[in-house]
Amino acid sequence: MRLSNYFVPTLKETPNDAVVTSHILMLRSGMIRMIAAGIYSILPLGYRVIRKISEIIREEMNAIGGQEFHLPALNPKELWEETNRVQAFGDTLFHIKNREYVLAPTHEEIMTYHARNVLKSYKDMPQIWYQIQTKFRNEPRPRSGVIRGRQFLMKDSYTFDTTWENLDISYNLHDKAYRKIFDRCGLNYFVVGASSGAMGGTGSEEFMVKSDAGEDTVAYCNSCGYAANVEVAVSNLQAGKRDDSSKNIYEIHTPGVKSIDELCEFLKIDETACAKSRIYINDSRPVLILMLGNEEVNESKLEKLLGGSVRPGHPDELKEISGADAGSIGPVGFNGRIIADNRLKNLNNLFSGANKNDYHIGGIDLMRDVPQIEYADLRIVQSGEECVKCNSKLEVFSAIELGHIFKLGTKYSESMRAFFLDEKGEEHPIIMGSYGIGVERVMACFIEQHHDEKGIIWDKTLAPFKVHLVGLNMKNADVINTCESIYNELNENNIDVLFDDREAQAGFKFNDADLLGMPIQVIVGEKKLKSGMIELKIRKTGERTDVPLNELKKAIEKEIG
Ligand code: ATP
Ligand code: MG
Repeated sequence: MRLSNYFVPTLKETPNDAVVTSHILMLRSGMIRMIAAGIYSILPLGYRVIRKISEIIREEMNAIGGQEFHLPALNPKELWEETNRVQAFGDTLFHIKNREYVLAPTHEEIMTYHARNVLKSYKDMPQIWYQIQTKFRNEPRPRSGVIRGRQFLMKDSYTFDTTWENLDISYNLHDKAYRKIFDRCGLNYFVVGASSGAMGGTGSEEFMVKSDAGEDTVAYCNSCGYAANVEVAVSNLQAGKRDDSSKNIYEIHTPGVKSIDELCEFLKIDETACAKSRIYINDSRPVLILMLGNEEVNESKLEKLLGGSVRPGHPDELKEISGADAGSIGPVGFNGRIIADNRLKNLNNLFSGANKNDYHIGGIDLMRDVPQIEYADLRIVQSGEECVKCNSKLEVFSAIELGHIFKLGTKYSESMRAFFLDEKGEEHPIIMGSYGIGVERVMACFIEQHHDEKGIIWDKTLAPFKVHLVGLNMKNADVINTCESIYNELNENNIDVLFDDREAQAGFKFNDADLLGMPIQVIVGEKKLKSGMIELKIRKTGERTDVPLNELKKAIEKEIG
């Protein structure tokens, strides 16, 4: 491809609306352009990368027996009503104005529709069906470029099995395929065991990449590989120690003292002597949650524990429930369910609110004074705490989800009545799995992990072109002729080459070559040409060597293998 005639609108400056590195570099290198919030055009250079990623995904999906489909993005709404997901997706689902169609955010319904019409016997399974196709989600906060778009490409696959054991096989095949895909793409990723959440399955894993651009927070152990979303992560942090003897409870006048910090300051005590109270409403019933010191409630863990609907109590409800406003609420005399975090287990001589504004209570013995108390793990794990598996230090950081594998079970087959007959002629719902990879996210995450201050650093696998050929003075006949012959030779040998044949300053061309980031730069200049030499620069290391023209192809092949 000749750059003079190729639509690669590079930008010198960082665009104002981009903060995440991959987003900035994709815009600057002319790979993408925004059309509206969360809606991007992928330009020719970017699309070459998307196709390479898609091809790797296809190869690995085919290798596990996957059969490629192409399902419609425009879906009749009735199918989505069968699974009650018009409601479940809510505003995220795009509706076509006459409301008879939706734009598919995922394809469980359509795949299950096909399954129920054909997979009637145990003999028809297992099946692995996949596609690489556009998804539509009205994300409330599209951001970070293509990492969170309202329209994006997903590889989604669905498995259909007759037993839970066979589902495990299909799931494990995907686990292996995903590792191969991400390895081949050159990504540094880790795997998090996620909670199966509202989708109603029995197991799932998320493939994640560490990145400040991520919207998930995970706890990760570098020594043993323990990784968990902080929503569910646990650490080895133990409960505090009970004092040998318990004081009697006593009321303390604490005017204006609201936060734990203010209480500690006022009473000259440590926060580990305090039990912080939070009131939640669980299906209209109040529940008092106690946390040690300043620790915050992990609402995901709380929701899982309580079931039903869970929300923090509104400020104006608190007084009616407890007799006091926030800052003065406590467990002693609280009328209702009380759950304390495990770190408070059986502690005594604690301080907490008195359920009376501007008063606290000291000398609380949870065993003696709060007999109905229950305990649970309700903490948010912090960096530096010990790993539950190996006692090494955990790190907590942001991460991007690249892909997700998920044992769906029978949720969709039951609601859509996709049943099969077993060997005995008995009817059962098909056991399903679903598995996704965000194709643009793979591209973005690669760039997040492979760049420097000058631009992207592609490796040979995903690079839009393997070689960036730079003619330094495109008025010089020798340079032109040499470039043309190199360009032709590489093309004839199926080595993808981007030829910067523009009449522009050397510095400008070098900057573009570093920004676009092809693995090898071949630089043809008048001076070196006089002694028959061509300069070869490796983008990743910056290493430069002079190579005789007749050895150039060999040198390039050596680099890109
Ligand atoms: P997230 O938690 O990031 O919203 P998700 O759990 O909604 O992801 P899935 O429904 O499991 O994602 O979709 C499978 C894959 O599709 C994700 O792992 C991710 O790589 C990609 N993906 C999901 N939403 C988007 C989006 N808005 N833009 C780009 N890719 C996305
Ligand atoms: Mg989502």
